[in-house]
Amino acid sequence: MDRIETSSSFAQFRGNSRAWLLRRVVFPAGDLVFGQNMMKRLSFLEKAQWLPSEKLHSIRDQSLRELVKVAYDEVPFYRELMDKASVKPADIHKAADLGQLPIVTKPMLRHAFPDRVIRSTGKKVYASRSSGSTGVNFTVLVDHETEGLFQASFLLALEWAGWSMGEPHLQTGMTVKRDFPRRMKDALLNCHYVPAHDLSDSHLDQCLHILERYSLRHLWGYPGSLYYLARRAVECGWNRPMRSIVTWGDTLYSHYRNTIEEAFKTRVVDTYGCSEGMNISAQCGVGSSYHLHTLDVIVEYLDDSGVPVSPCESGNIIVTRLHPGPMPLIRYKVGDVGIAGETRMCACGRGYDVMQSIQGRETDIVLTPSGNRLIVHFFTGVLEHFEEIDSFQVIQENLDSIVLRIVPAGEFSIATRRRIVDALKEKGADLNIELELVQEMPLPPSGKRRFIISHLARPHDAHFPTLEM
Ligand SMILES: [Zn+2]
Repeated sequence: MDRIETSSSFAQFRGNSRAWLLRRVVFPAGDLVFGQNMMKRLSFLEKAQWLPSEKLHSIRDQSLRELVKVAYDEVPFYRELMDKASVKPADIHKAADLGQLPIVTKPMLRHAFPDRVIRSTGKKVYASRSSGSTGVNFTVLVDHETEGLFQASFLLALEWAGWSMGEPHLQTGMTVKRDFPRRMKDALLNCHYVPAHDLSDSHLDQCLHILERYSLRHLWGYPGSLYYLARRAVECGWNRPMRSIVTWGDTLYSHYRNTIEEAFKTRVVDTYGCSEGMNISAQCGVGSSYHLHTLDVIVEYLDDSGVPVSPCESGNIIVTRLHPGPMPLIRYKVGDVGIAGETRMCACGRGYDVMQSIQGRETDIVLTPSGNRLIVHFFTGVLEHFEEIDSFQVIQENLDSIVLRIVPAGEFSIATRRRIVDALKEKGADLNIELELVQEMPLPPSGKRRFIISHLARPHDAHFPTLEM
């Protein structure tokens, strides 16, 4: 017993000294080299998160005023938009004033890119490019300074999940080719990086082996890859509890969450970001809602005609990034749908605003002729009661109908077909439903299974994480 205690306190000492070294020496030195303020910002956020929301809003609104002024003075695109709307920077004092400015969409920015949408920050800039589902690329220019601010918020969210800097962890991701800076990051942060696109049993077994071999208690990555890892763990009777599970980069479906939490005996902390270089929100591990990174972004939820929806209703997510960087984003429509949180605080006591949930991309939603939106949970809630279904996918080509692709679990009669269609219609799927039986569901090259594929929405950028570190 003594030996165990001695060895665990030694491990703790080793962990603490590593964390100290990272926080006090390594990352501040890195900040200096890359022109970032990540560590300073993290220390600030660690305190600021507990400030009363009024104080946070006042800091946020100050940033907003500076942002709008910079955008008006230095970015022709925003100056023209604001002149057209007869709005001056002095008219925007607080978040609630943002409604005076027009919504900015990807096509608008793409059309004005680069000359009319960028500004000089005197720093090195690079392009963050995301490929759309239809192959249309969208480019945002970022710099290390802005990236460092969002990285600080991401590290804060990892701390919410229960991770301390330097603790070893397994991360699944798509950046399989680890360049030198990433290899350095992996080594410093104690990260075991595994590709997320290989979900074969042998690869999943390898991941479980890494968790075992290095006694890892923290597991992060795409919801889909962690879901299949969790399923494999259950199949193999593998049952080491984790201390933190953090997901990002894709929709965390409720059945993903349940399976992961059951397999690894801890709560999943989900984060939400977008490929334009922003971490938008994250769960804190206490409630089910998401904390907005209040000092980084302002989020609005609008209906299709641009009117704010009521709390607890779903709306298009419009983001204003408070750090201007080389390409300011003000009232930018990211293409996701989310639900605003209520005004009451989260039980954790943090002053950050809350967002109730993210419902996924526009392309993850089925639209009906009556204007209803059916999210993936609508379908799982109905179809999970049919033992005849192994898996399913919904494809929407036009507003009046969907194709429900099903891999049957066994016998599949005409009566079953009818019962499925009736059950969906009864719950509110007021469109034509065509059933298509398939042997297996093709997995896209990304390895991210999509439950709903809508060809109705406009081209939309892939929802990769902000920080595939
Ligand atoms: Zn909270």
